[in-house]
Amino acid sequence: MTATAAATLPALDAQALRADFPALQQTVHGRPLVYLDSAASSQTPRRVLDALLGYYENDRSNVHRGVHELSQRATDKYESARIRLQRFLNASGPEEIVWTRGTTESINLVAATWGRANVRAGDDVIISAMEHHSNIVPWQVLCQEKGANLRIIPMSHAGELRLSELDRLLSGRPRIVAVTQVSNALGTVNPVREIAERAHAAGAVCLVDGAQAAPHLQVDVRALGCDFFALSGHKMCGPTGIGALYARRALLEEMPPYQTGGDMISSVRFEKTVYNELPYRFEAGTPMIAGAIAMGAAVDYLENVGMERIAAHEADLLHHGTERLCAIRGLRLIGTARDKASVLSFEVEGAHPADLGTLLDRQGIALRVGHHCAEPVMRFYGVAATTRASLAFYNTRSDLDALGAAIETAKEILA
Ligand code: PMP
Repeated sequence: MTATAAATLPALDAQALRADFPALQQTVHGRPLVYLDSAASSQTPRRVLDALLGYYENDRSNVHRGVHELSQRATDKYESARIRLQRFLNASGPEEIVWTRGTTESINLVAATWGRANVRAGDDVIISAMEHHSNIVPWQVLCQEKGANLRIIPMSHAGELRLSELDRLLSGRPRIVAVTQVSNALGTVNPVREIAERAHAAGAVCLVDGAQAAPHLQVDVRALGCDFFALSGHKMCGPTGIGALYARRALLEEMPPYQTGGDMISSVRFEKTVYNELPYRFEAGTPMIAGAIAMGAAVDYLENVGMERIAAHEADLLHHGTERLCAIRGLRLIGTARDKASVLSFEVEGAHPADLGTLLDRQGIALRVGHHCAEPVMRFYGVAATTRASLAFYNTRSDLDALGAAIETAKEILA
């Protein structure tokens, strides 16, 4: 979004929205909780908790199976959540939304089905240098199994993909380009629309890891032009254990099933099984019913707040946080791309990330230290770990001021 577009929107009142989140009301070690770990998992608003509990209290039963009232209600709510997510992503139809356990399972699904059916010896699978392990390992396994090559789009020191290298990478036998839209370790926003376009021009399909994009940016899978888009509910104010895969209908129709068993069939004979229609063909067994229903509530919640307002508010926070952190002597930001979202990764001279994280926790600040499931990124910067503050719309500038002050206190203790 442009700065002018953001400026015309009524600003989001993060302080007021915080009241919707029970977990944000607590103190930790005697201090008000400052939650800066939303890239790992966001917090859950009351409305989503009510949807979870509402299913268990009123509609608890299985879906797609019963003629009785409870099962009908559960099925209606489960399918209505799918439609809400479809609209949230601007997919063409609900059959393009497959419920999964999350981004990891969504990517594994694509690698195990589309990948096994379409990648052959000598083909190229292209990922980027800043991928989360869940967008590396499934492709590595596939390439090993098929004798295909895993190729990597390199990045600059600022943490921007070197897209000038893409044509060279696409000049072999590319089958798929799988990239993250927003890097969880660096915050870089990648131009996935352009990447998808170039992948298609070279005859490849494009998968977008949307785990860190869907909670922060307005996503329109048709405008992005991607073929697959993976997301996780727990990073978008939804429950854990639920996520989704968007896949273009034409591709889903050709893909072999993922897991097999109940629900994914339309008829079973010992001689032959006929698979169910889309998207049920990819949802074997009893699904995460409560999770999907609550995910529908999470999507409603995000839409009510407004994704454009969320992006504008978080851009302001990122700017404020960057200035505050850069004022600390000995602090080095890791990931300084021009286009960034929601993540401030850094190291502080003389402070081991684990010690720093513990001292910050004692001051009520929750953030993440470690490799963030992106070891190749850590290796690129020559560090074992970073400290990462990650933002959501319920954060305020004062959370970042508290972070800055707490780092300064921790530095004094460690000096
Ligand atoms: N990709 C990215 C960019 C992520 O940040 C994460 C979660 N940290 C994942 C994939 C994996 O998501 P999940 O653990 O919810 O499957």
